[in-house]
Amino acid sequence: MYNPKSLKAEEFISHEEILATLAYAEENKDNLPLIDSIIAKARECKGLSHREASVLLACENEEKIKELYDLAEELKKRFYGNRIVMFAPLYLSNYCVNGCTYCPYHAVNKHIPRKKLTQEEVRNEVIALQDMGHKRLAIEAGEDPVNNPIEYILECIDTIYSIKHKNGAIRRVNVNIAATTVENYRKLKEAGIGTYILFQETYHKESYEKLHPTGPKHNYAYHTEAMDRAMEGGIDDVGLGVLFGLDLYKYEFAGLLMHAEHLEAVHGVGPHTISVPRLKRADDINPDDFDNGISDDIFAKICALIRVAVPYTGMIISTRESQAVREKVIRLGVSQISGGSRTSVGGYQEEIRPTDTEQFDVSDQRTLDEVVRWLMEMGYIPSFCTACYREGRTGDRFMSLCKSGQIQNCCHPNALMTLKEYLMDYASEETRKIGEALIEAELDNIPKEKVREICKDHLAKIEEGIRDFRF
Ligand code: SF4
Ligand code: SF4
Repeated sequence: MYNPKSLKAEEFISHEEILATLAYAEENKDNLPLIDSIIAKARECKGLSHREASVLLACENEEKIKELYDLAEELKKRFYGNRIVMFAPLYLSNYCVNGCTYCPYHAVNKHIPRKKLTQEEVRNEVIALQDMGHKRLAIEAGEDPVNNPIEYILECIDTIYSIKHKNGAIRRVNVNIAATTVENYRKLKEAGIGTYILFQETYHKESYEKLHPTGPKHNYAYHTEAMDRAMEGGIDDVGLGVLFGLDLYKYEFAGLLMHAEHLEAVHGVGPHTISVPRLKRADDINPDDFDNGISDDIFAKICALIRVAVPYTGMIISTRESQAVREKVIRLGVSQISGGSRTSVGGYQEEIRPTDTEQFDVSDQRTLDEVVRWLMEMGYIPSFCTACYREGRTGDRFMSLCKSGQIQNCCHPNALMTLKEYLMDYASEETRKIGEALIEAELDNIPKEKVREICKDHLAKIEEGIRDFRF
């Protein structure tokens, strides 16, 4: 029944295979020679299968967990250096016909105000985001064929890319909308989107159907097979994720990796990113109503394991998590974080963070400037880079460059140049000072001398007011 190459959800995310995996992991959680061999395989950057990674997830041996954490840190440094890519979510509409029991936008929530941005409002939101310094957005909208049809989403994308306010520009729009048709994915591709993101929420079919009692999202197979349709429509960067807390985390973890293996087996390229959201409080939603919440320690272990199991896949964490949790998982493998986020429709135009239409409670409420400074004070380089997608380095082209190790010669200088733009155009005095010193020190870490020289030249030109250099 289990077949990673199948295009049927129930065959590539086989329930029986997950149960067998969990049993295998439980049987072997103290099998130290096996655990050592799995860690050794991960150390060679060969990635791990869902079974191998599940054994490590089940393992409670403190020494081995420490080894895993050390390895995750090492791989993080090897592939992502000390760079953290920044992005912000942009909520377009909270109209939704689905009944997801964990989301305040569900159709039966009658007391949440419903809002949909006009193009003028999209414009104002984007200007506010550009004025913060953002270059990369993830747009979000509920599923509603009448209020949020694909034409509306496409129009918003067009508006977003067209706005050039002062030195600002949104250079990459990632899209997080409901599962749709190949034809619509093709339209999104033509509109120039970056990654198509769709969270599975849960891989457990029975739970999935209970958690999505009404609306088109109730159809487990249609939702689970969405990434295959997206890839058929020409989108080659897709982002997976589960909402941890809905079902048992070990089950979700195995399902998530099986999904990644499936994409690799069928399309020759795994997921571009994996997001790790956890269930949070919101209007009409009490996380305590869900039994499967995970502790910060388990959460960190999952992040470390994703890092070693799929080393070339970016990992994303949002402002759902607190500063302290973000600090821990950035070290263990997270490569992209949001900053200064507003998770409500139209939230960026308001002086004070509005909460009436929030999709979830924001734990990390700092401004982008504060987040950028905090990252730099910990020795990270906040990066506003969007170069790959704009240079056509997507899908397997991106992955092969990543695997060759040469991506470092792009990411590092691009991080420094985009940080320089941020410092020149948006940073506070204090942040700028810290950033300038960081750039100076980090120039030496560009591996190729020629690239280093070009980068220095570009940095000087950015000082003169020229923008948008990239490798
Ligand atoms: S999770 Fe998405 S589909 Fe479900 S109710 Fe919320 S906005 Fe709608
Ligand atoms: S060069 Fe590519 S992989 Fe590196 S940070 Fe920029 S967009 Fe990401």
